[in-house]
Amino acid sequence: MADAPGHEAAEVRRFSRRLGLPGLVDVHTHFMPERVLRKVWDYFDALGPLTGGIEWPITYRREEAERAALLEEFGVRAFTALLYPHKPAMARWLNGWAAQFARRAPGCLHTATLFPEPGVEAYVREAVEAGARVFKAHVQVGAYDPADELLDGVWGLLAEAGVPVVIHCGSGPAPGKHTGPEPIARVLARHPRLRLVVAHMGMPEYEDFLDLAERYGEVRLDTTMAFTDFSERLAPFPRRALPRLAGLGDRILLGSDFPNIPYPYVHQLRALERLGLGEPWLRAVCHDNAARLFGL
Ligand SMILES: [Zn+2]
Repeated sequence: MADAPGHEAAEVRRFSRRLGLPGLVDVHTHFMPERVLRKVWDYFDALGPLTGGIEWPITYRREEAERAALLEEFGVRAFTALLYPHKPAMARWLNGWAAQFARRAPGCLHTATLFPEPGVEAYVREAVEAGARVFKAHVQVGAYDPADELLDGVWGLLAEAGVPVVIHCGSGPAPGKHTGPEPIARVLARHPRLRLVVAHMGMPEYEDFLDLAERYGEVRLDTTMAFTDFSERLAPFPRRALPRLAGLGDRILLGSDFPNIPYPYVHQLRALERLGLGEPWLRAVCHDNAARLFGL
C-alpha cells in the first residue's frame, strides 16, 4: 500500500523476477508541470468530468522526485511522461517541459503532445527532431475530433517517423463529443501505418478497438486500468473477447496511469496475471512488446 512503499516495491520486483524479466516497461505514466498535475488531481478530487463522478483517491500523491524514484524501485526500466493540453497554445510549452524532464529522469522516454491548432505540424516536427519517442493525445480532455484536418499532416508525419502515439480515445470513464472508435477509424483509414496505442484498451468500447487492432497491424492497446477491480465494476472487459487478447499478444502494452490511480500499482499487474493468458503473454505485455517498439 501507499504507506508501505518498500513492501510494495519488493512485490512488484518479485513479479518481474518470477517472469524472468529485467524489469517492466510502462507506456502510460503521467509526469507534468507541477501546477498542471495539481489541476488534474483537483479534478479527480472534485469528481469532475475526468472521473465521471466516481470516487477516485490518488494513491501516489507525492513530490515528483519521489514518484520517479518509486518507479525505479518498482524496477520499471522505461516509462513515459504523458501530458496533454485541454486548450490551444499550451502543447508547445508542455513539450518543452517534457523534453527537460526526460533529460533529468533516467528511464523516462522523451514524450510530447499535440492539439489541433495552427502551427501544430511545426511543433510536432520540432519535437520529433528533438528526439521525442512517444506522443500523447487526449481526445476526451482536449474535446477535439482526432480526424480534424488540422491534424492530418501530423498523423502523416508521425506515421512516417514511426513514433507511437498513446491516445485516450475510448469513452471511459466519461464519454466526450469525439470519443469512441468511429473518429479513430477515420484517422486510420487515411493513415493505416500510424502507430496508435489505444489507451485503457479502449475502455469501455473494448471490442470495437480490438477490431481496429486486428485490422491495422500498427495499432496497439495499453492495459492502463483495464481488468482491475476498479474498472471491472464500471466497465467490465467481456470474457468472450479474452481469446482476442491472446491473439494480439504482441501488441498489448503494459500501462498503469501511475501516479493517478485509486489502488496500488501492483494491482494492475495482478489484474493482468489473473486473466490466465500465461507467462509468455505476460512477459510480452509487461516488457518485451514495448522494449521492441522503443528499441530498448
Ligand atoms: Zn492516463
